[in-house]
Amino acid sequence: MKILIILAHPEEKSFNAAMFNTAVRTLEKEGHEVKTTNLYKENYHPVSGKQNFTRLKNPDYFKQQDEELFALQHATLMPDIVAEQEKIEWCEIMIWQFPLYWFSVPAILKGWIDKVFTMGKLYDNGKIFSNGFSAGKTAMLSVTTGGPEKNYVEDRYGEIHSILFPIHRGILEFLGFTVLQPEIIYSVERLTDDERETALQNWSERLTNLEKETVEKLG
Ligand code: FAD
Repeated sequence: MKILIILAHPEEKSFNAAMFNTAVRTLEKEGHEVKTTNLYKENYHPVSGKQNFTRLKNPDYFKQQDEELFALQHATLMPDIVAEQEKIEWCEIMIWQFPLYWFSVPAILKGWIDKVFTMGKLYDNGKIFSNGFSAGKTAMLSVTTGGPEKNYVEDRYGEIHSILFPIHRGILEFLGFTVLQPEIIYSVERLTDDERETALQNWSERLTNLEKETVEKLG
């Protein structure tokens, strides 16, 4: 299968980087085609705005979605954004690897979302959820947390699925992706080396069966 993995972590020796490297290695070994975007390594500029475009339809009043629609006809989207869109169009499965920051994705990944998921191309009137351009693809979040699992309950931080709901429903399912169960490694800094090693092995095992999991989920 064609699999795109996005990494949002600033440290190449981090546990997130280890999860990312494990995923690339395992999936390639399984015979999948893998493309990646390593946001920090690529020094990704995350601020979305006028600079998303090579020229503007209306320089007097910037409206991003209007410019995105204009860009479809006039090819005014910046080449780096187009390149990311092409990877999304290419892939059958998309995985995001990131540490939970303030109950959400790191800003660099949020910026990637704001810039890359353009109107007319990734979603449009009536082209959302099961009619979305990404219908038939699957997506999965692979997330590490600082907080321990016992804190991710209703009367404390809230359930992890509630915290991830805006990403699952408001972004991925909105675009048409079918969302797989997230991979969550809680409290990663407080695990022992052995526990972290086991987490990486479990991740690798899960990815070995990713095609089966995807096919089952898509029904
Ligand atoms: P690292 O610190 O990189 O790694 C943990 C340990 O694993 C290190 O000792 C490292 O050496 C070791 N390691 C690396 N590679 C391997 C390997 N191959 N095998 C074994 N061990 C290895 N947490 C929450 O729970 N909720 C929040 O809302 C939240 N918000 C945050 C906001 C900000 C701005 C920041 C900075 C942090 C926040 N955190 C939050 C904490 C954050 O989620 C964790 O610090 C992060 O998930 C830890 O992952 P890491 O990859 O950075 O770990």
